[in-house]
Amino acid sequence: MIDESAQDTPYKEFVLAFSWVVYTFEQYLSVRQYRKLHEPHPPKSLQDIEEVREKFRKTQEYGLDKAKFEFVSALFGQIQSTCMIVFDILPWLWNLSGEWLAYAGYGPDHEITQSLIFTVILTLLSHLISLPLSLYFTFVIEERHGFNKMSLGLFFMDMIKGFLIAGIIGLPILSLVLQIVKWSGKNFYLYVWIFMIIFTFIYLTIYPTFIQPLFNKVTLLPEGELRGQIEALASRINFPLKKLYVIDGSKRSGHSNAYFYGFFKNKRIVLFDTLIEQANNGEIVAIVGHELGHWYLNHTVKILIIYQIHNFLLFFVFSQFINNTSLYRSFGFETQPILIGFMLFQLIYAPVENVVAFLMNILSRKHEFEADAYAKKLGYGVQLRSGLIKIQIKNLGNLNNDPWYSAYHFSHPPLPERLSAIEKID
Ligand SMILES: [Zn+2]
Repeated sequence: MIDESAQDTPYKEFVLAFSWVVYTFEQYLSVRQYRKLHEPHPPKSLQDIEEVREKFRKTQEYGLDKAKFEFVSALFGQIQSTCMIVFDILPWLWNLSGEWLAYAGYGPDHEITQSLIFTVILTLLSHLISLPLSLYFTFVIEERHGFNKMSLGLFFMDMIKGFLIAGIIGLPILSLVLQIVKWSGKNFYLYVWIFMIIFTFIYLTIYPTFIQPLFNKVTLLPEGELRGQIEALASRINFPLKKLYVIDGSKRSGHSNAYFYGFFKNKRIVLFDTLIEQANNGEIVAIVGHELGHWYLNHTVKILIIYQIHNFLLFFVFSQFINNTSLYRSFGFETQPILIGFMLFQLIYAPVENVVAFLMNILSRKHEFEADAYAKKLGYGVQLRSGLIKIQIKNLGNLNNDPWYSAYHFSHPPLPERLSAIEKID
């Protein structure tokens, strides 16, 4: 039965209109940022720092190159997603998957298999379409500024490994989730949510041992001054440090980083070899102190819980739409496959996700300030300051940001704000 009244809900038009509004707004922000990248002088608060004066032009040039690339790739992405919707590419791909299934001798009642074929085609296709842009970014822009350390061989090897892992892990998970929805009826959101929590924990547990080594070499930080200092810091604040690793980030890129992971009493700290190269021991310990601030202040746990609540709401609201015939019809589908329902639902849910992403950035920046304050209280104020400046300069991070642009996009506060906040803490 066709419900005539429901046919009128213009979901498709709404999705298109909203995506162009967001696109236009984001481009406006990018233009504001672009102007800042043309300014000849760093912000006042940074002008006394010698490294900043020396490298400011380079950071601006790198920022400009990336900004130009962003204009092109955002426009390309926007046109691509608009075409997908306007020309009903998704139903076409869905039917194509059905035809392939029929060649193999299966009927349209094999919805899960058809969903897997559809996912594979869609994933390969979207990677293929964006391949020229990602090649350009790595081998032209990153290369020009001295960050790219990858060969073409490594680039494609990473891509193939990524596909294989996504296939081996992702496809069984997808079919299980679809199966759960079929089995559990209208309360499926609860079961899917619990399943996803369990999966997340398993994935985070196996990732460092089984997946990361496929891409990077992770070794123990050798005995020495740095290791001694970090271990002393960990025991001073009762951080249950099990292992201290170095990862060969330099294999791919000159950008640097540090992080920790692990549940409960089983924590590991990972330093990028690039960080060790760029900063001195005192600065590295200060940066580790900042990272451990995230642990001490329960930031990671808070974020994890927020995401689980977010997922619960996402699945719950989706459960109210899964049988909405007019949603499927609006995007050119005659049947109502679960996977398609979820994809279409995410399109109309995009405004909520945009707001969530914005709020999460605000929260993340608050956490950064708190972790900085924690490191300063440990006595690393001076080293943290010089470490942050060094990392920012070596990574050619933007020093001159538009306040609107950074408020919308940045998960970390801009350098001048961080430095002045560190200074103000007693
Ligand atoms: Zn942080």
